[in-house]
Amino acid sequence: MPDTLRVCALYPQLMNIYADRGNLLLLQRRCEWRGIDFVLSSSDLGERLDPDAADLFYIGGGQDRDQRLCALDLAEVKRDGLHAAADRGAALLAVCGGYQLLGHSYQLGEETLPGVGLVDLRTVRSDKPRLIGNVAIEVNLGEDAGGSRILAGFENHGGRTHLGPGAEPLGTVLRGQGNDGASGYEGVRRGNVIGTYLHGPLLPKNVWLADWLIARALGHDGPLAPLDDALELAAHVEARRAAGV
Ligand code: GLN
Repeated sequence: MPDTLRVCALYPQLMNIYADRGNLLLLQRRCEWRGIDFVLSSSDLGERLDPDAADLFYIGGGQDRDQRLCALDLAEVKRDGLHAAADRGAALLAVCGGYQLLGHSYQLGEETLPGVGLVDLRTVRSDKPRLIGNVAIEVNLGEDAGGSRILAGFENHGGRTHLGPGAEPLGTVLRGQGNDGASGYEGVRRGNVIGTYLHGPLLPKNVWLADWLIARALGHDGPLAPLDDALELAAHVEARRAAGV
């Protein structure tokens, strides 16, 4: 029996700016090239989330107005399902707007959107200039991810994300702004749950992270079978070069 990776994209119509679909496509291709079956489903507004129906959940970036709809739905309709999925070790990747909804709240002026409460962080929309540009961070997800690695991508966010004492950052900023432009931290990690501001799309430029997510989602002990990654590594090097790392 071949492995099957079941991926569930949350709000794929609303939360998908900056080529987030490329991340899903990349996961599909890397599975298929290895003979791993790939099944993609989605969960939209009003749909409850079955925590056992997918191995990897994905939320992409979004505009503030779309995040408003998704924040309420996440908090009211999907909260229990997503917590149960994370608690049983399912992988979750949340990018930018999706990342901002993983914590306690996203404050936009007078309005405070609820977060889904998976990690200890708060995001506040700032009146100051958006944080935009190429970014590179240093990340260590452990030996199964190859120790200390670089993630390179592009950020564009008005929100500033502040980690609470219970939150572990995904990485430290080498170039760019990261969570809030001041802390030196980027993203968040809780077990197999990853949140990050890095667009790009993120995974085609950092295939090591894609493979780590696939392996974790499938419960593999070691690394996946290697692929010919000449083009992907060139994209990674180019993203790092753009960030100056
Ligand atoms: N709307 C959010 C912000 O500007 C997220 C934007 C995004 O996903 N790029 O902070």
